[in-house]
Amino acid sequence: MTSWRDEDGLCPLCGRPLGRKTEAHHLIPRSLGGRETVALHPICHRKIHTTLTEREIAESHATLPALRAHPDIARFIRWIRNKPPDFYKRTERRSRP
Ligand SMILES: [Zn+2]
Ligand SMILES: [Zn+2]
Repeated sequence: MTSWRDEDGLCPLCGRPLGRKTEAHHLIPRSLGGRETVALHPICHRKIHTTLTEREIAESHATLPALRAHPDIARFIRWIRNKPPDFYKRTERRSRP
C-alpha cells in the first residue's frame, strides 16, 4: 500500500501539514479496484465522502486536482486552511483527573 505521507508530510487535499491522525483515501474507490491511497486529515477525508458518492469519485473526481476543484470542497479548503492540523469539528479534550 503506497501513501504520500512520507514524501512531504502535507495533506494533498488542503495542503496543511498532517496531524497525528491520518486516514487513507482511495483515489479510485476500493470497490472499483483502486489501490492507490493518499493520507489525508480525517476531516478532509470525511469532507470528500460527505460531498461525493463513490460513483462520483470514480467517474469524475479520481484525482486530487479534480477533488479540489469541486465547489463544496474548494470552499471547505478555504475554510480549513487556517485551522490547526489536528482540528476536528468535535474538538475533543481529554480532561485530566
Ligand atoms: Zn487536509
Ligand atoms: Zn476515501
